[in-house]
Amino acid sequence: MKLFAVIGNPIEHSISPRMHNNALKNLHVNAIYTRYCLQNGKDLRKKFFDLNLNGANITIPFKEDAFAQCDEIKGIARKIKAINTIIKKDDKLIGYNTDAHGFMISIEDFLPLNSALIIGAGGTAKAIAFALKEKSIKVDIVNRSQKRLEDFSGLGFELYHWQNFSPKIYDIIINTTSAGLNDESLPLPKDLLEKSIKNAKFAFDVIYHKQTPFFLTCKKTLTCKNGKDMLLNQGVLALELFLEKKFHTKQIKDFMTPALEL
Ligand code: NDP
Repeated sequence: MKLFAVIGNPIEHSISPRMHNNALKNLHVNAIYTRYCLQNGKDLRKKFFDLNLNGANITIPFKEDAFAQCDEIKGIARKIKAINTIIKKDDKLIGYNTDAHGFMISIEDFLPLNSALIIGAGGTAKAIAFALKEKSIKVDIVNRSQKRLEDFSGLGFELYHWQNFSPKIYDIIINTTSAGLNDESLPLPKDLLEKSIKNAKFAFDVIYHKQTPFFLTCKKTLTCKNGKDMLLNQGVLALELFLEKKFHTKQIKDFMTPALEL
């Protein structure tokens, strides 16, 4: 039997075990997907082997630790420098980032796009920024504070914080912050958000649990999507890596979706 897990801290609220177990059960695969609360990111590799895992998803706050501890990094994860999926092959850990491509699949029906504004400068912003850049879409990033913008310095993005940002014309506005998740805040001051969305066509919110103030504001004039589809797409891509098999995406998404509705 194969064993998979999501590793993070905190981890009790993760819906990945339900998503993956639903799919594994429906595919009649002899495997279980569990969760593991890791205390120290430095122990990630050791724990992976101690738990005898075949593969894992890595979540907050260990994606950078995973990058540092894999034997081999594949694809766009080399640029993002963060890993959310690990598979074990010949006792080596191979790292991938499926958030980036999960996002791109989610906005396929918005393409072609020329320009994007990303709000937020955390790990999710980085995955999305590189995914867009790979498709030659121009990316501006605006963050509440300066510090995290430094991680994007010299990587080919235009960087702003709230105080020096004057919105340009963007095709899509993407919220990658957790503003509005547990409160009613916007990710950008109201006047800046309104100017940013004025000429846009689309909006994307990585939050999938609820319609945030950002989503509700954008919904008035733009075509909007929330993070549910991105979550499912990254899950499908991870499952394909775990089982080394290409699946019919819609079928796996149908298997995984009930996990989001509990
Ligand atoms: P990080 O902690 O790495 O980054 C958070 C960013 O949000 C920072 O830039 C921070 O700004 C900004 N921020 C946080 N709160 C506010 C606020 N109230 N107003 C303005 N800016 C704020 O988080 P992640 O990138 O890891 O995750 C962000 C979100 O993405 C989470 O809600 C997570 O659940 C979601 N997510 C969704 C996925 C999906 O598949 N749909 C996949 C992965 C993540 P500052 O630097 O100033 O602190």
